Amino acid sequence: TGDGPASDSGADLVLQSISKRFGDYLAVDELDLTIPAGSFFALLGPSGCGKTTTLRMVAGLEQPTGGRIMIGGKDVTSTKAFQRPVNTVFQNYALFPHLSVLENVAFGLKRRKVRDAEAQAKDALTLVELSHLSARRPAQLSGGQQQRVALARAIVNRPAVLLLDEPLGALDMKLRRQMQVELKNIQADVGLTFVHVTHDQEEAMTMADCVAVMNAGKVEQMGAPAELYELPKTTFVANFLGKSNLMPGAVTEDLGSDIAVNVQGNRLVVPKNRTTQQTGEVIVGVRPEKIVVLDSSHEASPRSNAITGAKVIDVSFTGVSTEYLVEVPGIGRLGVFRQNLGGAEVRLGDQVTLAWQPEHSFGLDGEQDT
Ligand code: ATP
Repeated sequence: TGDGPASDSGADLVLQSISKRFGDYLAVDELDLTIPAGSFFALLGPSGCGKTTTLRMVAGLEQPTGGRIMIGGKDVTSTKAFQRPVNTVFQNYALFPHLSVLENVAFGLKRRKVRDAEAQAKDALTLVELSHLSARRPAQLSGGQQQRVALARAIVNRPAVLLLDEPLGALDMKLRRQMQVELKNIQADVGLTFVHVTHDQEEAMTMADCVAVMNAGKVEQMGAPAELYELPKTTFVANFLGKSNLMPGAVTEDLGSDIAVNVQGNRLVVPKNRTTQQTGEVIVGVRPEKIVVLDSSHEASPRSNAITGAKVIDVSFTGVSTEYLVEVPGIGRLGVFRQNLGGAEVRLGDQVTLAWQPEHSFGLDGEQDT
């Protein structure tokens, strides 16, 4: 896509009530999104949630059933794909096998008869640190290098918005992590608006300034990675961004800036700014790494949240940390991560108390499925 006008900087991208229907199936459901110019934005969600369809509508490869798409303040909803100031890098970045790396990158510019096509292509290759391989053919490159050629080929057109559809999906884990950092640095250098589609929560959180979590054609929550992780607003977001322990309970007291919640006889305190629920049913959430495991003969500090009567049913050593699975009667299974810094060992079958700081809990609407 995208031989549209070249841009010196990114443009903002606004989706207004965008929908896409395939027959009876509503793949994207009145989606609203505002993506600021120059940001690295991630659309994150499980397979089939409508991420790619959304991206394809921005690229102009799919016509929306309803709604508007604005790029840099201009309505492009009916603009043809090749006239939009947008480029897309796909997972299967088809490079021309018979052209050199440099020729691949310069191809689009030359076709448009841009005067200094080759110089611009060289600059783009410098940016992705591939100048030294510019004479090679794609088949002589590693997967990560080919991916960077595809990126250079997209960047060289200076699209106002660069769309990335799982561009790292074909790479092995180690290379993928390395490319995430490189891609983030390249975005910071070029200052274009990047919209990155992924189902990998770690990838989205590592790279993006802002993440929109999609579920069933809608955005469930949008925000900075840390905000989404620390203050998820739905059980879907809490579970999709890492592991969460979610415990249904009932609000018993208003403590001013906190509420107290009864979870199977355990009194847990949740800051009010971490929940919209002030009465009735509430789900108390806490991340596994926030929990401390105490030998059941130790009392948790009175200011901590504590759950007693837990039994360790699984211990997995992962290198940096150990992951424990504990079973609590009436509550079920909870996960705990502990960094391997020494200290008292916790063994399979141990009776333990789980404790954490009240400010590390969040509250969710009690009507959801957990
Ligand atoms: P993935 O990560 O698996 O690519 P996704 O979130 O990108 O998933 P989409 O590709 O946007 O999901 O698809 C959203 C839904 O729309 C899916 O249920 C898919 O089967 C359906 N869909 C996509 N394209 C078409 C099409 N051309 N015709 C019919 N249904 C489609």
